[in-house]
Amino acid sequence: MKGLMQDWPLTVMSIIDHANRFHAEREIVTRTVEGPIHRCTYSDIHLRARKCAQALQKLGMKQGDVIATMAWNTHRHMEAWYGIMGMGAVCHTLNPRLFAEQLTYIINHAEDQFIFFDTTFVPVIEAVADTLPNVKGFIILTDKEHMPETKLKNVYCYEEIVEAEDGNFEWADVDENDACGLCYTSGTTGNPKGVLYSHRSNVLHALAANGADAMGMRSVDTVLPVVPMFHANAWAIAFSAPASGAKIVMPGANMDGESIYELLSTERVTVTAAVPTVWLMLLGHLEANEVKLPDLTKVIIGGSAAPRSMIEAFERDYDVTVMHAWGMTEMSPMGTLGSFKAGMETLPFEEQLDIKVKQGRAIYTVEMKITDDDGNDLPSDGVAFGHLMVRGPAVAGGYLKGEGGNILDEDGWFDTGDVATLDPLGFMQITDRAKDVIKSGGEWISSIELENTAVGHPDVVEAAVIGILHPKWDERPLLIVIPKEGSGLTKESVLEYMDGKIAKWWMPDDVVFVDEIPHTATGKIQKLTLREQFKDYTLPTATAAE
Ligand code: ADP
Repeated sequence: MKGLMQDWPLTVMSIIDHANRFHAEREIVTRTVEGPIHRCTYSDIHLRARKCAQALQKLGMKQGDVIATMAWNTHRHMEAWYGIMGMGAVCHTLNPRLFAEQLTYIINHAEDQFIFFDTTFVPVIEAVADTLPNVKGFIILTDKEHMPETKLKNVYCYEEIVEAEDGNFEWADVDENDACGLCYTSGTTGNPKGVLYSHRSNVLHALAANGADAMGMRSVDTVLPVVPMFHANAWAIAFSAPASGAKIVMPGANMDGESIYELLSTERVTVTAAVPTVWLMLLGHLEANEVKLPDLTKVIIGGSAAPRSMIEAFERDYDVTVMHAWGMTEMSPMGTLGSFKAGMETLPFEEQLDIKVKQGRAIYTVEMKITDDDGNDLPSDGVAFGHLMVRGPAVAGGYLKGEGGNILDEDGWFDTGDVATLDPLGFMQITDRAKDVIKSGGEWISSIELENTAVGHPDVVEAAVIGILHPKWDERPLLIVIPKEGSGLTKESVLEYMDGKIAKWWMPDDVVFVDEIPHTATGKIQKLTLREQFKDYTLPTATAAE
């Protein structure tokens, strides 16, 4: 027997319609690429998204076309998202930090028709424009006054084409399973692969993200997404904030500690989200200037593991609740968040930190398990670690154009490429990415845990650990450290600090000091480059063992 409820398609347009109907006055505040702070409301975004959709139709765009954006988090970028998706097209977010060859590959593979971009990215787009035969034109996200000089052809000024329309536009009649968003994973091996979100997956994910134990956005909140809209679906914030009516503060191009502090403080932000490197800069700014953030209640940290010392600093020194989050582009992107379960609120602080360093519990709609190399399920005992497998309605079922072949096992599980433990209460902890884990004497050492222990040392700015070939143990860990300037940090001091905090046999065999640690386009430590850089490195223990 079928239910008798209304067939109401789950489209992302319904989210911005809701915001317009019930939170019309709530603000979207942007630090614009041009400089000044810009203020508008959900009602403005709703109107201008429809105008944008009209403008795209005038340019010949149709339902199912793919249209790209390369832009910072701004009100215009949000309008373009809803405009593109609202006319039934697919919004393809481009990461400006990718190499030119990768951009060319991605834009051509996706068959992007138009590219919206900020003035910042004129050189990036100019460098690849000749390699993009499908692209019909470029829309620069600025007004007439700020239109840059460019050698690009078929260039349009966003404000001009949008303001030429009246906004009298009905959203496209789409099926909830139609595609609306596209984001490529950085693809550390092989070509980048396209993850194609549907209206339904984005809506379900926004609802799950808004659960009180997840990001839990409320209408009274002011949220600052530092996480860029050009990577991993901006952790769903461009959907979950309007769904709840939260005010949004868009940081534009400036993500340094001072700029983020200024916005957090003046706009009285209550919830914010970013990768650990951003928080390192903010904490540095707070400490150096002896300032606090009295309105901030929740910081969401994900993308890479949040070090214990970072969680501790936010919670103890600034009275901010840290929510450790894990996910990936293929998961829309959130998988777990670390909110407490009953009884945990009253635990001693150190025990709470033990829980908070874990990546958290699966949000509703995410199923999760760990398996051994042969695909057998492993116990959720907090000790056994194995391949982290996931499934759910906002998890990729395949990549665009079938790249990578069948990515699910026979029961529909997707292998995340991460190695993790699951404890009996459901908390997951990432041991490593499968390809980064250090294999020593048949056992595995977590590079993440070593890195996060090392950064707890007050004179360590950043740390990376890679496996170095070893004649006796296969691999042993090498710790690579950026020391605090002028601290005179020594190898002995770092190792002494780590002693007792990790298993004895996990202790790095050597420590090297560097000025810089390479990062990927998505802000992760580039282990591949480090392994290349140190491929001829001989550990002191290696010669001793020979
Ligand atoms: P990309 O692969 O394009 O860099 P993703 O955001 O899709 O970008 O990366 C997902 C991966 O990031 C996960 O598979 C995991 O390895 C890592 N990751 C994300 N969040 C965390 C976290 N909180 N702790 C440890 N690793 C994380």
